[in-house]
Amino acid sequence: MFYDTIIIGAGASGCMCALMTKNKNFAVIDKANKVAKKLLVTGNGRCNLTNLDIEDKFYNTQIKKYLDKFSLNDTLEFFKSLGLVLSYEEGRVYPLSNSAKSVVYVIDNQFAKKQITVYLEHTVTKIEHKNNVFYIQTDKNDFSCRRLVVASGGNSVVDFLKENNIKFRDFCPSLCSIKTGSTRNLANVRVHDALLTVSDGVESKSERGEVLFKESGISGIVAFNLSSFYARNNNFNGRLYIDLLPDMSEKEVFNLLTDRKTLCLPIPQFFDGLFVRELGYEILNRVKIDEKRTSVKLTDNEIESLSKVIKKLAFEVKGFYPNNQVYSGGVFLDALDESLQCKTLSNLFFCGEVCDVDGICGGYNLQWAWTSGAIVGRAIE
Ligand SMILES: Cc1cc2nc3c(=O)[nH]c(=O)nc-3n(C[C@H](O)[C@H](O)[C@H](O)COP(=O)(O)OP(=O)(O)OC[C@H]3O[C@@H](n4cnc5c(N)ncnc54)[C@H](O)[C@@H]3O)c2cc1C
Repeated sequence: MFYDTIIIGAGASGCMCALMTKNKNFAVIDKANKVAKKLLVTGNGRCNLTNLDIEDKFYNTQIKKYLDKFSLNDTLEFFKSLGLVLSYEEGRVYPLSNSAKSVVYVIDNQFAKKQITVYLEHTVTKIEHKNNVFYIQTDKNDFSCRRLVVASGGNSVVDFLKENNIKFRDFCPSLCSIKTGSTRNLANVRVHDALLTVSDGVESKSERGEVLFKESGISGIVAFNLSSFYARNNNFNGRLYIDLLPDMSEKEVFNLLTDRKTLCLPIPQFFDGLFVRELGYEILNRVKIDEKRTSVKLTDNEIESLSKVIKKLAFEVKGFYPNNQVYSGGVFLDALDESLQCKTLSNLFFCGEVCDVDGICGGYNLQWAWTSGAIVGRAIE
């Protein structure tokens, strides 16, 4: 089957592209059984579709010039025009229904209204470019087209990129839990307000918020955001540190613990009332204190060591959990023109996560999908 244009991927960016284009001879191909299916799992089923504070600093790269073409406001207006009623939570934008299904419904309704041709449950297995025609093989039918839009998400077309010498940064899972040396004794412990610092030995980055311990790693939004520090270097190695009392200096922690000595508690219960017991044990284990005494016998040296651990609970970083929300890496933006068309292979466009753009949690990645999808959609008229 020949079409003027084929869009591979009916995810966020592919749908936006399909809804924006004025092209009348195009088709969308997706391996899923439903248009925009992946949106259902976003934002814990609520779809955090963008953020009121969109700036370059929340991404790995500068996307302002693209946002100037299709901005946050354009996104809000677009979804409102589809009938989606929005709600706002500390800058994060969700459907008022609090259900990602509403976003999928309004997109689906538009697909039906515009009678967009979609081939669902078609997995693309090979893409070739010969004599100015793109040939797309799927597990069901073969397609060809003059113009191709790749909107297939993360690391889905690596072979095609390599075969056509399209420059890309290696894909690496990002926005995921960080694997560390064993935290089994801390599994499921939540620290409501900590300062997490990740380091690769040369540089470091910190963020404050809730930290959740897993069997052998750290999770929570802060850990997800900081995983991008490793992902962007494609190297999950180094150390991470948790400051368990970020509002206090080490001296203030020392004073606090010194005051607590007079509670005269058995050492294993010394941190009761300050930290959950599992965390208290972990801190005590790190300092290797003789636990057969009561707290009143703790020496200044011991209190100092405990204070240091509280301010800098250290773990070896050993990799990532495969629960990544996005991939870091992708087709370099400077390999693409202003319309996200490949500079070295005309009529080939990229949008969404397959481009080398990744943001932190909070609606930033979907905003890039909407922006890039809209830019390509307008360009393929
Ligand atoms: C659990 C989870 C929660 C998330 N929550 C948020 C959030 O709340 N806010 C936010 O901004 N971002 C969130 N994200 C990230 C966001 O979903 C992505 O950034 C965004 O979907 C990327 O859009 P895309 O169009 O590039 O790719 P996708 O939305 O992944 O779409 C790609 C499409 O291509 C199809 N496809 C892939 N390979 C093939 C193939 N070989 N053949 C045919 N079809 C193919 C897929 O089926 C898919 O439909 C979340 C991600 C996950 C995994």
